[in-house]
Amino acid sequence: MMGPRQEAQSALFYEFCLEDHVPADHMLRSIDRFVDLDDIRQHLGSFYSSTGRPSVDPELMIRILLVGYCMGIRSERRLCEEVHLNLAYRWFCRLDLGDAVPDHSTFSKNRHGRFRDSDLLRHVFETVVARCIAEGLVSGQRFAVDASLIAADANRQNSTSKEEWQSDKINPEAAPRAVREYLETLDDAAFGAATTVNPKFTSHSDPASQWTAARKGPAYFAYSTNYLIDTDNAVILDVEATRTVRQAEVGAARTMIDRVAKSFDLHPERLIADTAYGSAPMLEWLVKGRGIAPHIPVIDKSGRKDGTFERADFTHDTKNDLYICPGGKELKQNRRAFTIPRTPKPDKEGIMRYRAKKSDCDACGIKAQCTPKEPQRKILRSIYEPSRNVARNITKTIDYAISCKLRKKVEMLFAHLKRILKLDRLRLRGPCGVKDEFHLAATAQNLRKLAKLIKEPSQTA
Ligand code: SF4
Repeated sequence: MMGPRQEAQSALFYEFCLEDHVPADHMLRSIDRFVDLDDIRQHLGSFYSSTGRPSVDPELMIRILLVGYCMGIRSERRLCEEVHLNLAYRWFCRLDLGDAVPDHSTFSKNRHGRFRDSDLLRHVFETVVARCIAEGLVSGQRFAVDASLIAADANRQNSTSKEEWQSDKINPEAAPRAVREYLETLDDAAFGAATTVNPKFTSHSDPASQWTAARKGPAYFAYSTNYLIDTDNAVILDVEATRTVRQAEVGAARTMIDRVAKSFDLHPERLIADTAYGSAPMLEWLVKGRGIAPHIPVIDKSGRKDGTFERADFTHDTKNDLYICPGGKELKQNRRAFTIPRTPKPDKEGIMRYRAKKSDCDACGIKAQCTPKEPQRKILRSIYEPSRNVARNITKTIDYAISCKLRKKVEMLFAHLKRILKLDRLRLRGPCGVKDEFHLAATAQNLRKLAKLIKEPSQTA
């Protein structure tokens, strides 16, 4: 028998409990256990006026933003629609069925105002990191650092070549926000002062972004997100936005290591990174400055491809500060006998030069294997060579082989960021907008990690 036609009928009263309709295994239910926003009202207190119309609850806005970043919803307009329609999102945001969802424009107003002035998103990120530490997910022993490119909201058509770009001609009063932020960060080591090399193109809409072809494909405008993680459970301990320039990324690594030491009293035994972080000054800073073992490949240009002797074929005599060549002759920095002995000075990059005697090389039977084109052989040595040797010796250990595998964890976080959280292209422009996006994404990744690794007591029983 065919049943009666189903027709919608408006009931006069509903008895509806949102709590009952959110599945027990819903990810937001797990995440909610670790979202502690009790102190954000206090954190923001001085940024609100004591008079006037009451604002939208800041905790509600942060919860909505967390839904967006945890669930990979990139558009704030769409996020508000989703929160309006989705029961689990409403439950997470503490909105009842009849409660209104804030307008999407509220987010940009607050982001450019109170949230940024109070550094609220950084505060929320650090609160979640503190929770990860409290839950025992961080040992603080082994850190890994890396950077990944995220495409900026800028395109090639709206850009100027380096020959025509003149930042001093920009009028800050008439410029859009992203351009003003670019001007304000020109002396910032993470942005304008990262390098003296001018990029090939500069975007009009987001001039702080970097024109880069680092992925060996077509060039585009991008920023770098830098992660410092604890490798035990791949918890993100710190995040930093920079231009896509190696010096800026290495500088960000130093900033993050010091900030984590200050904020959470975490002092790692080793730092794991790729060759980009293996410059001599960085290794010196780690070994001598911070007492951290560098599990990092050394940037070494002393190798030779033409079969002639490499620097490793020469023996360094530390006591007498000279090299002995394979022919048994001495290479020295100074040969002149000064009345008052002079200490040789390295160049501004910290490089010392050792030279063989021309007469020794002229008479040498193996010169063709050593220096076939030059009249005498020269060896370069960094003043940071002892720290480079520490890193070289580490690469021969089993621990280093383990570190190479652990390094993949930070790369997996970037893959997760782009593929699952869909942050492969930025939505906001300017250094501040980029920082906001990176902080929220890292917070979402840590919350998802907590939800995955710390089971509810009922689930573990
Ligand atoms: S060429 Fe000069 S530096 Fe090279 S092995 Fe001969 S003597 Fe030594």
